[in-house]
Amino acid sequence: MAWSWSHTADAYAAAEENVRNKDREWLEIVFAEWHACPDPVGDPEEFDEKKYDKALQRAARLPETDLAAYVWDRMSEYAICTNGGFEAYACPCGCHLVSFDREEPEQEQPDLEQAETDDEQESRPTDE
Ligand SMILES: [Zn+2]
Repeated sequence: MAWSWSHTADAYAAAEENVRNKDREWLEIVFAEWHACPDPVGDPEEFDEKKYDKALQRAARLPETDLAAYVWDRMSEYAICTNGGFEAYACPCGCHLVSFDREEPEQEQPDLEQAETDDEQESRPTDE
């Protein structure tokens, strides 16, 4: 079960900044997930792999700022976060999260890299 956003303007600004600081691969995958799975609370089995692949190709040609803006638009439209409200869902699948706290661009704690590992798995949805 997910919570709705109810945070300070500063928390939203931090979350948006965190999206913009993500690397290109992260943004491309999340962009594609929004296209493959337009209903964020929908059935994960409705994930459309063809749309996902197409969107990934399109994402590769878009500037990072456009990708970040798109992701932020969609995620703030649905405004879903983890229980407790610590992290916002950045994608409709619930596998990409951003913090409402400002993340340090240079992350030294290995804990914060955990999400990157999830990204790797997410980029190969057909892998069985
Ligand atoms: Zn995701």
